[in-house]
Amino acid sequence: MARALDIAKRNPNAAPPAVSDGARGSEIEKAAELTVVSGAAPGRPSLVGLTRGQLKERLTAVGVAERELKMRVAQLWHWIYVRGAADFGQMTNVGKGLRATLAGAFALERPQVVSEQVSRDGTRKWLIRMPATGPLDKGAEIECVYIPEVDRGTLCVSSQVGCTLTCSFCHTGTQRLVRNLTCAEIVAQLIVARDRIGDWPGATPPEGAFVPTDGGRFVSNIVFMGMGEPLYNVEDVIAAIGVLSDNEGLGLSRRRITVSTSGVVPQMERLGAEANTMLAISLHAVRDELRDVLVPINRKYPIAALLDACRAYPGLSNARRITFEYVMLKGVNDADADARELVRLLKGIPAKINLIPFNPWPGSKYECSDWERIERFSEIVFRAGYASPVRTPRGRDILAACGQLKSETEKLRARARLMLESGIGAEGMYALGDSDA
Ligand code: SAH
Ligand code: SF4
Repeated sequence: MARALDIAKRNPNAAPPAVSDGARGSEIEKAAELTVVSGAAPGRPSLVGLTRGQLKERLTAVGVAERELKMRVAQLWHWIYVRGAADFGQMTNVGKGLRATLAGAFALERPQVVSEQVSRDGTRKWLIRMPATGPLDKGAEIECVYIPEVDRGTLCVSSQVGCTLTCSFCHTGTQRLVRNLTCAEIVAQLIVARDRIGDWPGATPPEGAFVPTDGGRFVSNIVFMGMGEPLYNVEDVIAAIGVLSDNEGLGLSRRRITVSTSGVVPQMERLGAEANTMLAISLHAVRDELRDVLVPINRKYPIAALLDACRAYPGLSNARRITFEYVMLKGVNDADADARELVRLLKGIPAKINLIPFNPWPGSKYECSDWERIERFSEIVFRAGYASPVRTPRGRDILAACGQLKSETEKLRARARLMLESGIGAEGMYALGDSDA
């Protein structure tokens, strides 16, 4: 535990921990079961999270004339993404007749927040229930984590329910139910977060919540580091990034959006060309034999091919570096020789390195490297010119940790509670301490 705090201290960007380490594991503040209220009648499709093109289709379907479409889409866009409207009645510049038509056909409903957990350090984790997308889909639950820091607020979003890949150190990879999230479901995670932290014009943040000073934004950064492999859902991830970064709406800078991939080489170029976001690579090993085990997609796209795709990533420069994530596994990938090889491999690629202390989960067969080992490893990396490489642990008291997100609902929640009770704290570390975006 002291180790994680030491890591936090080493990072100049990290907000100071709010409480003593010993207090964290036990003093969890979990809100009661919550249901998000909205005025929508069941069964009406929600317009929240849609792209401009999708909104246009919906408006056409209810008879809005072609010549009006652009203006109407712009109005809805503003109400949904700038004002956070949850009710068509708020849309005062839309005529009463059209408002009634819209309310009869659609909703502005958000996915349901099943539970909210608030860490003593201000990190918030939501279990969000996505409605069924069709007769074969019973709906699905995903997790989303908000990490406020002094100079930024980061939202960690999911791109899939579960993950088809089976990285041997990752809990998400053991989840049975897997489906892609739609663009709307990805965007809705930010909408839900902003609802919950009171981040709309005229809204009031909940008591005790972090409020950015000097006009900063509550959510300034988005990382696709929740559940799922974003590049196995590339179409909807790119569409969602379009909505998230639209200047007339949610307006997040693409430089403050990071997509993390285990290395789906064929989709990397497309992501760079079409979404123009920052890229993070889950590298975790410097030899193919080991990476084949830790990140099995390596058997398909080995390290050399992955690094070639990195070199070719559009828009790469010293100001736009790729983040290489490296989970510290005791006795597995944490030797001095691994650190030296890591530095050698990345030579010539504009890169940042994030060392991630391993987060244990029930049944996991790895242990986190000792702090002295992480320190030694990071020293070698540091000497090679990579600054503050250890990712800041956040939200550890609420299991808001990389690779621990697994939403198989009741069973998991019971298990998570057990973990909490038995003191297996999560070392949540979505906060990208070294990101300069
Ligand atoms: N599927 C994508 C994004 C989600 S995982 C990917 O793999 O990149 C986000 C990060 O958490 C990845 O770097 C992943 O390797 C790491 N991670 C997974 N399980 C972890 C664990 N138990 N402890 C620490 N980091 C973990
Ligand atoms: Fe999937 Fe990423 Fe976990 Fe691997 S680390 S199983 S790609 S979520």
